[in-house]
Amino acid sequence: MVKHAPGSFSKNFAWHGTGLRKLHIVIRAGFQDTLATVPRDRFREDSGLDASLSLIPVNFFLHNKAGRMSVDELVFQAIERPHSIRFDRLALFALHLNRVGTGQRVVSRPAMWANEFVRERLWQSGVWRSSALSDASLDPFITDRMDAQLDVRVKCRNNYRHLYELCEFWPTSLPVINAQAEQWIASALFLAWDRHILDGGPSDRASLVDLIDSDELYKLLGVTRGFALAQAGDLADLYGSVGGIERFREAKTALTPTTPPPPKPAPEIPEEEGLEWLEQEESDEVVERRTVERQEQKRNRKKAAALKQHYDNTCQFCGTKLQISEDRYYSEAAHIKGLGEPHSGPDKASNMLVLCPNHHLQFDRGILRIKKVGGDYVIRSKAMGDPLNGQKITLTHSLDDVCVNYHYRWFGSKR
Ligand SMILES: [Zn+2]
Repeated sequence: MVKHAPGSFSKNFAWHGTGLRKLHIVIRAGFQDTLATVPRDRFREDSGLDASLSLIPVNFFLHNKAGRMSVDELVFQAIERPHSIRFDRLALFALHLNRVGTGQRVVSRPAMWANEFVRERLWQSGVWRSSALSDASLDPFITDRMDAQLDVRVKCRNNYRHLYELCEFWPTSLPVINAQAEQWIASALFLAWDRHILDGGPSDRASLVDLIDSDELYKLLGVTRGFALAQAGDLADLYGSVGGIERFREAKTALTPTTPPPPKPAPEIPEEEGLEWLEQEESDEVVERRTVERQEQKRNRKKAAALKQHYDNTCQFCGTKLQISEDRYYSEAAHIKGLGEPHSGPDKASNMLVLCPNHHLQFDRGILRIKKVGGDYVIRSKAMGDPLNGQKITLTHSLDDVCVNYHYRWFGSKR
């Protein structure tokens, strides 16, 4: 059995004080809030950490290439999004992914023991087993795989298990840990693909999807292989459509004054902010047609916002209530019969569902459909092994069955 060095993982990163929020802060400081690579040494200087602690982010969580810190999905999430538990879960995934690039003083796979732990112990038959995180399971595993004295092993074990606490995976009274991967699978796969490409891997769709198997990413996500593979296809398409690893290049050039910023798409935002945003836009509008359109948009937003509020931002399919800051939650209103051509569905609440971003994406692509069975609406999933398949949706507003049947048949015949 190969034994791995603990590196600086045993150091007290003050996880118990600020948790992974500290990593979020350090990334923003080290990158100076900019989506551009920085020299490794300058990152360490700017990180706000002392010399030994500044090694933890650069050695275990971030990616190095030719003496510089790479920009990837983890960096993007830290700089562009407020700290949240979703960031923490992505950071734990980054530790497990264990791809930190190459360069002087860089150990390419610095936490192989943690990667092996997830794949060999924590993940069993499609789920994470909480018993694997007990002392009785963790200690012998670390002894077996880590070349370190007892006191260092204990520090590593405590630091490591504390990450699960920060991610709210542990402690749990249940035998199975609910990884809630549907909330972070998209950013996790984007991160895995970013690093694969940064390390010189091919970026075609098939190669990206192959990583689910070759790197056993589904085990790092805490889901079945079938579920991960089913998601990976659509997510790889999405990844390609936003430019893959090149998507940060656009963000970088947009900062230079000579390049006009790209037009901003209308963001899905809470009602109060949404109205304010639209009002500002309207004052600049001179064309009456545009004003009418915007008033229409405003009305539609109101309906969608009311429905989201009705469901308390909770996904009608999976029950996820996605927190995006201390006191804000995020959900999306999905039209059942699409608004645009060729569907021309009506913009009314009975043609809408409140969904989490992942299930909205799957519903719009027809991977998920709903069918009326008796008095209930049941989910039909084309994703292999999808636990949602056959489940009733949570429904406390009435649906237009013409729209429901339209969506069901449209994707039944098309795909
Ligand atoms: Zn959902």
